Amino acid sequence: MKGKILIVEDEAAIREMLGYTLMKDGYAFEEAADVEQAQEIIAGNKPDLILLDWMLPGVSGVDYARRLRNRSETKHIPIIMLTAKGEELDKVRALDTGVDDYITKPFSTRELLARIRAVLRRSIREETDTLIEIQGLMLDPDTYRVTARGEVIDISPTEFRLLHFFITHPERVYSRAQLLDQVWGQNVYVEERTVDVHIRRLRQTLASYGYDKFIQTVRSVGYRFSDK
Ligand code: CA
Repeated sequence: MKGKILIVEDEAAIREMLGYTLMKDGYAFEEAADVEQAQEIIAGNKPDLILLDWMLPGVSGVDYARRLRNRSETKHIPIIMLTAKGEELDKVRALDTGVDDYITKPFSTRELLARIRAVLRRSIREETDTLIEIQGLMLDPDTYRVTARGEVIDISPTEFRLLHFFITHPERVYSRAQLLDQVWGQNVYVEERTVDVHIRRLRQTLASYGYDKFIQTVRSVGYRFSDK
């Protein structure tokens, strides 16, 4: 599953179309016809992104977006606003409320999915875009640069992502399938032994600095990162 998206839209036909599109692309989704229903869903389980219709009965999408932004529990949930043609002038206002993006109806499936991907990618980056340092091994997610005691290490993007995932999820064992999902992403067809190949390379890269010991093999289960 790529993530869970909450659709807030009063028109059943559009809701259905959105749900179908998301499901086909591998997202989970929930539906709300108004802000009240949306609130109930969010209180139960926070979505990874909200598709929010501009014109809703009762509380409007714009007001709701503002409300979500003002609360600490919901202010980090990305929002894409759905607007109709006549509402385009109000787009500036929408962005003012802090929504991440907007899309004008009618839109193509491809455009919608591209916007969703972009917004999700951005929000993940914002959460993880900080320098990480463990015993002199430093990762900069912004530049994909790794340094070992100040010396820049030559590392491929895949190995960077692998190392970044490990370092941000220490002391837990991950199977090859889990690592594929987390690092390569779902809907990507890669064989599980690819993980072994990249782990081997990553260890070789880290070995000259003695950091290869961080990446541990857990027999018949998978791998674990540990600096203990
Ligand atoms: Ca509407």
